[in-house]
Amino acid sequence: MTSTLSESTWQKSLAQAIRDPRELISQLKLPESLLLPALDTVQSFPLMVPLSYLNRIEPGNPEDPLLKQVLPVDRENQTVPGFSDDAVGDLQVRPTPGILHKYQGRALLMVSGACAINCRYCFRRHYPYSNEPRTLAEWEPVWDALSADSSIQEVILSGGDPLLLTDLRLQDLCNRIAGIPHVKRLRIHSRLPVVLPDRIHPGLLELFQRLSENGTLVWMVIHANHPNEIAQDVETALKQLVSAGIPVLNQSVLLKGINDSVDELVSLSERLINLGVTPYYLHQLDRVAGAAHFEVPEEQGRAIIRELRTRLPGYAVPQYVREIAGEAHKVSLLG
Ligand code: SF4
Repeated sequence: MTSTLSESTWQKSLAQAIRDPRELISQLKLPESLLLPALDTVQSFPLMVPLSYLNRIEPGNPEDPLLKQVLPVDRENQTVPGFSDDAVGDLQVRPTPGILHKYQGRALLMVSGACAINCRYCFRRHYPYSNEPRTLAEWEPVWDALSADSSIQEVILSGGDPLLLTDLRLQDLCNRIAGIPHVKRLRIHSRLPVVLPDRIHPGLLELFQRLSENGTLVWMVIHANHPNEIAQDVETALKQLVSAGIPVLNQSVLLKGINDSVDELVSLSERLINLGVTPYYLHQLDRVAGAAHFEVPEEQGRAIIRELRTRLPGYAVPQYVREIAGEAHKVSLLG
């Protein structure tokens, strides 16, 4: 079957995303009492919900687990001790604008400051994206730094969401990276296959396949938190990635009132492995200012993982980890 998706399809979907809380509340028939807090809160972190994602939310249900990931609420404006703007120490590991260098052998590039959805718990909701390189000339020092450090075998494209770059821009970036002989792997962290699945179109798959065939293996790390996020269009996108030979991993964030339940996480893992996607990480919430109301106690997280182990094959149980600023790796919370 020939796909009719193209670059213009996903760009149209992105343009149609809901950005106004009035529209979100009206389309989902939610109580009017949610509107004022939402209008107040979007001043500091905007609302963004693609229609594909909106269609997976149950109308009239303020407790819907997908709605809670995107609806701005007044608790985001509270100051809570221990929660800060730079929860994972990104700004301490930025040797050159555009690069975060946290872990040995890997470098992360901040290639986009935008996302197709704004997750209210986002660990980078306060990140100063405007300080990152944007023009081709501004990227030159990044290529120089990567070329000069032969310990870097893997480059991670992140942001924001790297798949919000146009195919042409993405291809330029990928080709520059692939041209550095010691870089063997390109990892792409993106929530788009889950929230804007028509971003996965034949032109993009061809780019990834070409890179892998020419020696820079492409890995994709997606981000799904709840089984309801794996709608039909998402299944199609994930199957296409897997069929193209691209290893696909999922990372989730443990979120209070959204997925802090054994049944929901079992269901998510089963949906993923049946599509050929490996459940990789279950992250303890990064303690970013504005997201304290999403935090689940670690002891509860450990109990959930112990239960997952009794209900799923080992490869379907994600690693329960937290990121700690300054640590040389993600820290396992299972001891
Ligand atoms: S997609 Fe990722 S970077 Fe973007 S808002 Fe959500 S958590 Fe943050």
